[in-house]
Amino acid sequence: MRTRGGVWRNWAGNQHCAPHAVERPTTEAELIAVVERAAAAGRGVKAVGAGHSFTAVACTDGHLVDLSGYDRVLAADPAAHRVTVEAGITLHRLNGELASRGLALENLGDIAYQSVAGAIATATHGTGIAFGGLATTVVGLRLVTGDGTVVDCSPDAERAVWTAARVGVGALGVVSRVTLQCVPAFNLHAVEEARPVDEVLDDLDALVDGNDHFEFFWIPGTRWALTKRNRRTSEPARPRRRWQAFRSDVVADNLAFGAMLRVGRHRPDWVPRIARRIPSAGRQDYVERSDRVFASPRLVRFLEMEYAVPREAFPSAFAAVRALERRIGVPVGFPVECRFTAGDDIPLSTASGRDTAYIAVHVGTGAPHDQYFTGVEAIMDEHDGRPHWGKLHYQRAATLAPRYPRWDDFQAVRARLDPAGRFANPYTDRVLGSC
Ligand SMILES: Cc1cc2nc3c(=O)[nH]c(=O)nc-3n(C[C@H](O)[C@H](O)[C@H](O)COP(=O)(O)OP(=O)(O)OC[C@H]3O[C@@H](n4cnc5c(N)ncnc54)[C@H](O)[C@@H]3O)c2cc1C
Repeated sequence: MRTRGGVWRNWAGNQHCAPHAVERPTTEAELIAVVERAAAAGRGVKAVGAGHSFTAVACTDGHLVDLSGYDRVLAADPAAHRVTVEAGITLHRLNGELASRGLALENLGDIAYQSVAGAIATATHGTGIAFGGLATTVVGLRLVTGDGTVVDCSPDAERAVWTAARVGVGALGVVSRVTLQCVPAFNLHAVEEARPVDEVLDDLDALVDGNDHFEFFWIPGTRWALTKRNRRTSEPARPRRRWQAFRSDVVADNLAFGAMLRVGRHRPDWVPRIARRIPSAGRQDYVERSDRVFASPRLVRFLEMEYAVPREAFPSAFAAVRALERRIGVPVGFPVECRFTAGDDIPLSTASGRDTAYIAVHVGTGAPHDQYFTGVEAIMDEHDGRPHWGKLHYQRAATLAPRYPRWDDFQAVRARLDPAGRFANPYTDRVLGSC
């Protein structure tokens, strides 16, 4: 994320806006003053985390609130395994702070660059059928609402607000602080290997249910999938050698796919050949601190669409995506990522009310994606799919409302906390409706 010449851009570079002002509060009093100033001037407010959303969810022509300097650990209760943090702390920094206290987040997504508030706002998730997304670990929140009033919410106080605000899509106020339920620090035993995708599909239930965290990346144009199986363990760390980690995380996950993207633009017919070589990165078997296994660097820029479908709908939805790839005949050059999580009770969580499978498709930035992404979205429409709030999609409030059983609960909290639409922007108008 960067602001240059008054223009803010997200990580992928596909969204930009020219805010009236970029604010950088470092205390809660400064944060409240920003909201009050914007309210007095009748302008909008958008907090921004690390700018790692692909949608325009964080854009505004009003006051853009950059919370990267508002990132301290405020309190830690190692006995209860809880921490309270300022909203702008990145997951990466938080992981280090937790480790030094013998704690960890119970699950994480693929990267740790995001801010805590930005990650929960869009229902950021990892994989693991017994685990929810990051927002399910939020046990307390402090929000600065449209007129600068502060609301503290938790399961015991302002429960309706807490229920909704864990995945607030930035539309309920500025989150000032978050209390997270963590777990004692743990290691993961990771096994990463390429397998024929049809074999993975045949064994899918056993892989999903028999591992704490299972995911796979199907490489379009090939019959291969890269599988990742992680089990929580009390074994001591047995990390990969540095070059092995580099080869797997940097070369296979980034550079090889990046090369495929670059080559694909000029010689699309070469993509399948390059793709077939990636699985030869070989089998990796190691034990490492949990956050170091869950998250890895992402150096190649891309655009992404991700849909959440009911777990039982996965085989049909995935088969349709494979058929689409064959039909459109454009070498995609980037893997299709498949993950599985537990259902939860958060109104706008992608896993609200159901165990969930996620299917994510990617293209390199600058590559045409409309045909591919609209094709995938049509498949997801047929499978009751819910889009990730931070990843590209074409839905509107009218198409989304029937897919979320607790949609009205969210809207009631929104009407109460932000009647004037101080935290609205064109994206929230489109996907949530205007205030
Ligand atoms: C390379 C890459 C890998 C990714 N991997 C995953 C993954 O594995 N799993 C997954 O689920 N997602 C993943 N994502 C998506 C990403 O986790 C989400 O888009 C997330 O919201 C980004 O966090 P951020 O801090 O950058 O928030 P931003 O994109 O800056 O903001 C997201 C939303 O949060 C709001 N917000 C930010 N701070 C506050 C605050 N203090 N109060 C109120 N609202 C606030 C913003 O207004 C906006 O509405 C990935 C994205 C990228 C680019």
